[in-house]
Amino acid sequence: MPNAYSIKVRGVVQGVGFRPFVYRLARTQGLQGWVLNAEEGVEIHIEGEERPLQSFLEDIKTRPPQAGVIAEVRVEPAEAEGFAEFTIRESTSEHKPTVRISPDLPVCENCRQELFDSQDHRYHYPYINCTNCGPRYSVIRALPYDRPNTTMADWPLDDFCAGEYGDPANRRFHAQPVACAACGPHYFFQADEEVVLGDEEAIRKAVDNLRSGKIVAVKGLGGYHLACDAKNAEAVSALRARKFRKEKPFALMAKNIAVARTLVDLTSEAEALLNSAARPIVLAPGKLYLPGVSPENDDLGVMLPYTPLQHLLFAAGAPDILVMTSANRSSEPIAYRDDDALQQLSGIADSFLIGQRPIARRVDDSVARVGAFGPTILRRARGYAPGAAATFPTGRPILALGADLKNTITLVVDGQAFVSQHIGDLDHYESFCAFRETIQDLLAMYEINPSELLVVHDAHPQYVSSIHAAELSASEKLPVQHHRAHIASVLAERGAWDQRVIGVSFDGTGYGDDGSIWGGEIFAGSLREGFGRVAHLRAAALPGGDAAASHPVQAAAGFLANLKELPHFLAPPFCFPSRYLDAVQLVRTNVRTFATTSMGRLFDTAAALLGFTREVTFEGQAAMWLERLASRAFTKDAYPFPFVGDELDFRPLLDSMLYDRIRGRGTSEIARAFQRGIAVGLHDAVATLSRARETGIVVLSGGVFQNELLLHDLKSLFEQDHLQIWTNRVVPANDGGISLGQAALAALANRPSLASVEKTDSAWMAQVT
Ligand SMILES: [Zn+2]
Ligand SMILES: [Zn+2]
Repeated sequence: MPNAYSIKVRGVVQGVGFRPFVYRLARTQGLQGWVLNAEEGVEIHIEGEERPLQSFLEDIKTRPPQAGVIAEVRVEPAEAEGFAEFTIRESTSEHKPTVRISPDLPVCENCRQELFDSQDHRYHYPYINCTNCGPRYSVIRALPYDRPNTTMADWPLDDFCAGEYGDPANRRFHAQPVACAACGPHYFFQADEEVVLGDEEAIRKAVDNLRSGKIVAVKGLGGYHLACDAKNAEAVSALRARKFRKEKPFALMAKNIAVARTLVDLTSEAEALLNSAARPIVLAPGKLYLPGVSPENDDLGVMLPYTPLQHLLFAAGAPDILVMTSANRSSEPIAYRDDDALQQLSGIADSFLIGQRPIARRVDDSVARVGAFGPTILRRARGYAPGAAATFPTGRPILALGADLKNTITLVVDGQAFVSQHIGDLDHYESFCAFRETIQDLLAMYEINPSELLVVHDAHPQYVSSIHAAELSASEKLPVQHHRAHIASVLAERGAWDQRVIGVSFDGTGYGDDGSIWGGEIFAGSLREGFGRVAHLRAAALPGGDAAASHPVQAAAGFLANLKELPHFLAPPFCFPSRYLDAVQLVRTNVRTFATTSMGRLFDTAAALLGFTREVTFEGQAAMWLERLASRAFTKDAYPFPFVGDELDFRPLLDSMLYDRIRGRGTSEIARAFQRGIAVGLHDAVATLSRARETGIVVLSGGVFQNELLLHDLKSLFEQDHLQIWTNRVVPANDGGISLGQAALAALANRPSLASVEKTDSAWMAQVT
């Protein structure tokens, strides 16, 4: 009598060639039974002799297909049923789906070779893919992941593709988006009244356009790109003007890694990131000067081709380096529906290269870099989303709505925290629509019943996301304070539910417990016990509130008002615009002026003192400008930034800056001494706090910690006293990570409110005051 096992595999196991892998394994071992895609993952019934059974189980666990990620393998003894062979069964659809949806994958090496093999059936076919590569999240309309549930449903397989799809020995066995030129979708070219059909002709036409300096809208995996020759300054400046994008850097696509190496300085770690399955835009020091691509910024953002179409464009002679920016008007979400793209981009693109395969949902390119603490993500979207960012110790479904800037949402199902793709800034109506769509999308995908749902939102009562939370039907709703969510995001990534830490949360703005604008906060606590605020930046006035974020001199008016003697800031070397005097007036009369502990605004103040006196055109611009200035100096000076009581006092810091600026010290040196002063002051504060609380772990999160110079300074300071620093690795340190942190705090919430300082602290927490 043979033995038998029932096996359940969870993780990213659908759409990654897992069933064919199991099938081949079973056949090789001479075992019988079946495998199928269920809503919780893959289910297997396997029977046969004990020895081959054991090596089968071993291989399942240790040698999964390259695109798969196994979260859990559950094996239970079963009754042998005397099957004659091993088969792949139809999918079941009985329970709630908790299978992980695979992110989109770049074209694999095998498919790429076939793409350029003139003897191959799919030679030059722009939708070539297999079980190891191709679209996933961007084509899935519902679970389980089978062809009728994808945007390929309208293209029935011809005999050739059906043959491969049904052949367990083939690389395309059950590859859901499989297609060929005979049965699948195609690309076409469109400019004004002209339409060019045929993949090759359309691509050639687009390449001609790119070479002659035109702007081409190209349909990609998760949306449209606007492409132009990166070395053509006129084309780049036309793109800026038409897109209403003044200064924010454009992303680039390099033909291949050799071209990328001529473009940016790549460490081996950065190359690995560039080549990783997510194929993100990687920020690295630029080696080429490309006018207009990345103004006043030493870094360039580069990615490699990841779709067959992009490879075909370069092979057909497109310029080696293309600007490949999300197709939208400034700050709007990326266009992904054909009619929307044609309408929205008509004044921007000269022509369109349009693919017929619909995009199920928009997924922007991800942005990453190798920083002081290893690879880090700045925008998490294509290639990462909707992967699980963490595993939670809870069975309850949780929906966390994130913050209003750089919004993402997180849905926790069966303890798996799925973080959505980057959605954007919700004050734009289009982004708000995308936000609502993404919520509906994820809830529908995982068949969540709102009556069980715990909805988590920011504590800011006027956030669009908070207001939307009130409109959602859910069994319970919970506000979570912004800066605690930042700290929680780091701990959730690591599953550190009980680890006590000192958490430093520095960013531009967030609603504080007292209703003031926080942003320079230090907490002590753990996810399970909650976080008490133990220190903060000394408060300053912020004239105009959040609007001050766009005008560094406005922030400066509030912070500088705390100093004793002030020079005339409209005169050299400061040359502030008169807006500064208006802001000073607001501070004096306390009109439209709010208290703030925002570290982001302190950086803005420093930038203003050193010459950044205009309006910022994208978030974080002044701080990036300051970082770049500081990175050119070699001074070891640090301006004093003392930790007194529970406050980091910025007054000596700014006094020293003013003194040096007036006596004519170089602005780079001043910027460097300012940044080092922040690092030294923070280090001293944290060292004191962690000694008192006997924890060796320091968490850093919030947008300010995207400043690499600051991170490097902190790293070397903390190494000396053996304090361990934890930063974000899976989600961004900016507000893109907030939803994961909100969900984590809510998952463990046994407390009356997460939006205010803990009143029911343990003895350890009692040291907080
Ligand atoms: Zn492939
Ligand atoms: Zn076909």
